[in-house]
Amino acid sequence: MRMESLKLDIRPIIGLEIHVQLATRTKMFCGCAVEFGAEPNSRVCPVCLGVPGALPVMNREAYRLAVKAALALNCRIARFTKWDRKSYYYPDLPKNYQISQYDLPLSFDGRFDVPVNGVLKPIRIRRAHLEEDAGKNIHESPSVTRVDLNRTGTPLLEIVTEPDITSADEAYWFCVELQRLVTYIGVSEANMQKGQMRFEPNINVRIIRDGREYRTPICEIKNLNSFRAVRAAVEYEIQRQVQDWLADPRYTLEHRGKENRGWNDTREVTEYQRGKEEAHDYRYFPDPDLVPVEPTEAELEAIRAELPELPIQRRMRFERAYGLSPADAETIVSDRATADLFEDAAKAGDARTLARQFISFWSMHANSRGTTIAGLGVDAGRMGELSRLTADGTINATAAVVIAEKMLGSANAPRVIAEREGLLQVRDVDQMQVWVDRAFAANEKAVQDAISNPKKHKQARGFLLGQVMKLSAGRADPKIVGELIDRKLASR
Ligand code: ZN
Ligand code: MN
Repeated sequence: MRMESLKLDIRPIIGLEIHVQLATRTKMFCGCAVEFGAEPNSRVCPVCLGVPGALPVMNREAYRLAVKAALALNCRIARFTKWDRKSYYYPDLPKNYQISQYDLPLSFDGRFDVPVNGVLKPIRIRRAHLEEDAGKNIHESPSVTRVDLNRTGTPLLEIVTEPDITSADEAYWFCVELQRLVTYIGVSEANMQKGQMRFEPNINVRIIRDGREYRTPICEIKNLNSFRAVRAAVEYEIQRQVQDWLADPRYTLEHRGKENRGWNDTREVTEYQRGKEEAHDYRYFPDPDLVPVEPTEAELEAIRAELPELPIQRRMRFERAYGLSPADAETIVSDRATADLFEDAAKAGDARTLARQFISFWSMHANSRGTTIAGLGVDAGRMGELSRLTADGTINATAAVVIAEKMLGSANAPRVIAEREGLLQVRDVDQMQVWVDRAFAANEKAVQDAISNPKKHKQARGFLLGQVMKLSAGRADPKIVGELIDRKLASR
């Protein structure tokens, strides 16, 4: 913080509202297809256009996905939930109200523990409810705006946290982990380029000066669509609020209430939009066209049973079980299919070696092909075998790289490839001794350095080892060769 604020005790108070588009084929209350990039206004019907008299019907799949996400966020699921109309007038909302959930959301009281700098930070979830998206206004010129209603009625899960977040970093990681979670359990593609995940941080700052406590106005930053923007906007807003309060002591929640602000991505600042609406401005009332939802215990159990081990838990288990760093565990558990593949392959192989191979060449091949490790199409049995052959010394690490590359283009087992390519490690010590003797004879200078020049010993020894590996075409066991070299140097 700036100079003046050094004496201040400053505590940011941050909550998040996040809209996640659910991965249904059709819209929330009608049968129109949810399709990104279709011809404008081609995926619409009387229901999503808001034609009077048209009747909405809830999409059960959207409800099921919403409950699945809510359970993954440790929320309680309401045994009775209903729909409300949230009234506002805007061209992208032809009904003049949005169907949402007001006082009886489908889920509430959850908790999401997010790793931040190696420590799990618990963040309470106030609620997660279902609602429909609005359409899109396309501002063509200062005087022309077109409206595309294809998106109108797309199912959204709105997740609201308690204001437990205290820094831009925590807000950032919450959003990153939430995206991982919803994609991992298959409730959303959460593709931010397609607007399938949008973030709205609520921020204010508690300031203590001379024993008195002040609170800046709660500012909601509307519609952020990248993790980077979340971090930058929250960081900026904390500083700005403190500065504005220092400049004007009446810049407080008490005097100003709440504000909506927008993030200007080019200037990297937030800009005042308007005073924030209170709930009564929306004239919420129950939607008379929709029946409430009362899930049975059996239905909820069935959804719960579909939940896999969640990504954060799985990563932590992998770290413990395979001695992985958090970053490496993240690479392996980046997507569910890859994590499953790893576990299957580990059964057929050596887990630690396999982990190293996943992090090095398998992920490299995946990246260069624009896919995931699971997407490479190499089966678990062969990946496992490659790791086992490497671990037990049948092949060395360099050979494994070559074999892996050949495995991508064929269905052959790694051992078959190793034999055909002459990559099986030579374990015959006599043969290795022959190569060592030859390397010594051909490199008298290096031998002399290794023996009599302490400064050059290490480098010269490394050089001799390299020569032996070269003579063996990479098949010698470097560990045994090293021992043979040391013994020969000692005997001179
Ligand atoms: Zn429709
Ligand atoms: Mn909303």
